[in-house]
Amino acid sequence: MELWYTEKQTPSLGITCLIRETLCRKQTKYQDLAIIDTLQFGKMLVLDGMVQTTEKDEFVYHEMLAHIAMQAHPHPRHVLVVGGGDGGVIREVLKYDTVETATLVEIDGEVIAAAKEYLPQISVGLDDPRVTVLVADGVEHVKTSVGKYDIILIDSTEPVGPAVGLFSEEFYRNIYRALKKDGLMVAQTESPFFNQDLISGVYSRLNRVFPLTKLYLASVPTYPSGLWSFTAASKCYDPLECRKKPVTTKYYNFDVHQGAFALPNFVRELLKEQTK
Ligand code: SAM
Repeated sequence: MELWYTEKQTPSLGITCLIRETLCRKQTKYQDLAIIDTLQFGKMLVLDGMVQTTEKDEFVYHEMLAHIAMQAHPHPRHVLVVGGGDGGVIREVLKYDTVETATLVEIDGEVIAAAKEYLPQISVGLDDPRVTVLVADGVEHVKTSVGKYDIILIDSTEPVGPAVGLFSEEFYRNIYRALKKDGLMVAQTESPFFNQDLISGVYSRLNRVFPLTKLYLASVPTYPSGLWSFTAASKCYDPLECRKKPVTTKYYNFDVHQGAFALPNFVRELLKEQTK
């Protein structure tokens, strides 16, 4: 008998994967956590029924969330990742020798434990001596961090449950204060096909807080619609600027850095009325 896992990406659309087995399933304090072994994408982390990351396509998302900012900033030393309990973004950040500290603030410790046990290629960086792992609410953490970070990367779930606060203007104002005077941030901002109001809203909120806000795209097969957005906001450096620091990657490269900011017309429309 075949066993299929289906994520309902919208009320009328889903992605379904043939699975070998369920490796882990638990109700944590915050969410339903599962690690399943799929034939197409390998092991997959699923939270509240939504694909978070898979062995086969995680490199796209983690590289594109990390390297645009890491290449735009001339010398990132102190980096904060909010969410990202699977460790994939931390792994990418650690590829730069300038990084002295990388702090992960993940609200659900069970996600970290499951990633360490079942997704070692993704969570590999969590044991690096430069890494501090805090099991805490990212909303609270940035409130108490002033002028600490060169780069802040927000690798959150979609705006439900504990992640709602990670999309608010108050959070972005606290991010601004937590960044150093030349800092920049990037947030994952969902699908341009299915989350247009969210993308417009985040863009306008960041535009009110930061002098420079830019959106870029990447294709992530297992995310809803396969097209994903990231919103960068900066105190001074242009996120489009790539300093061509050598780095080993599978998706990101210096041409992809530039191309990611070339937006299709329907995405430009989402931002038009928000642009200063
Ligand atoms: N790449 C995925 C995506 O784009 O949906 C996100 C992956 S990562 C596993 C998302 C993490 O954000 C989850 O582990 C979740 O527990 C965490 N998270 C949600 N709200 C949070 C908060 N307020 N503070 C810290 N972590 C939070």
